[in-house]
Amino acid sequence: MMNRTKYLIGNWKMHKNFSEAETWIETVEIPSSIEIMIAPSFLYLYSLVRLTRPSNLHIAAQNMHYEDEGAFTGEVSPRMLLDVGCHNVILGHSERRHTFGESDQLINKKICSAAESELFVTLCVGEPELVHNNGKDKAMEYVEKQLRASLQGLTSALRITIAYEPVWAVGSGTTPNIDYIADMHRLIRRVVSSIFNDNSGESISILYGGSVNSVNAQNLFADSEIDGFIVGGASLDAMEFNKILEVMEE
Ligand code: PEP
Repeated sequence: MMNRTKYLIGNWKMHKNFSEAETWIETVEIPSSIEIMIAPSFLYLYSLVRLTRPSNLHIAAQNMHYEDEGAFTGEVSPRMLLDVGCHNVILGHSERRHTFGESDQLINKKICSAAESELFVTLCVGEPELVHNNGKDKAMEYVEKQLRASLQGLTSALRITIAYEPVWAVGSGTTPNIDYIADMHRLIRRVVSSIFNDNSGESISILYGGSVNSVNAQNLFADSEIDGFIVGGASLDAMEFNKILEVMEE
C-alpha cells in the first residue's frame, strides 16, 4: 500500500481574531508524523506564518485570485501570498462555490495560477445535497466532472492534495458512511490518474471533510483510503483539534 502523506487541515473560515489564533497555536500539540495546516483569515497570514515557523504547523490561505496583480478590488493574489511566506492555499471550498458562486472554470484558473506560483493546493470537491439525493452514481459523475474541469491544463498533480467534501456534510453534523467515502476516494484516484496519464492517483493524498470531530475521526481514519481531514467547526477548539490528532497518531 502507498505510504501517503497524512494531513489535518483546520479551516477557520471567518473566525478567530489574532489573539485567539495565538492562544490556539500555544495550545495545539504538533506531532511529527502528520502535516498540520490551519487556514486563518487573510489578515493574519503574515503574522501566523512567522509565529509558527519552523514547525510542522503550516499556514494556508482559504482562497486567492488567479492574477498576480491588477484592478481586482478586495482580492488577494498568489504573489501576495508568497510574499508573506504563505505557500499553501485551499481552492474550490464549497462555501466559495455555493455562497460566492465560484465555477469550476474559475477554480481551474486559480489552480493553474497556483501551479505556476508553485503554491501547494488543497482542491475541494464534493456533491451538493440535491445531487446526493439522486444516488451515488450521480454523485460520482458530479465529482468526476468537477475534478476534470478544475484540473484541466495542469501537467502534474505535484503539490496538489484533494479534499472530498460532500456539501451536504459540511457544517451539518452528518457524515456519509465510510464505504461511501472510500468509494468516492477510489473514484478520485482513478480520475486523477486518468487526467495525468500516470499513477499519481495512488500517491496523491485525499482528505475527507464534512462534520469531522474527535468522536467520528477514529472510525474514518481507520479506512486506508482516507489520508486525513479538513475540519471546519471542530478546528476552532484547539483541545478538540488535539484529540483528532491523537486519534490520527494511534
Ligand atoms: C470545512 O469547512 O471544510 C468543513 C469540513 O467544515 P465542518 O468540519 O464544520 O463540516
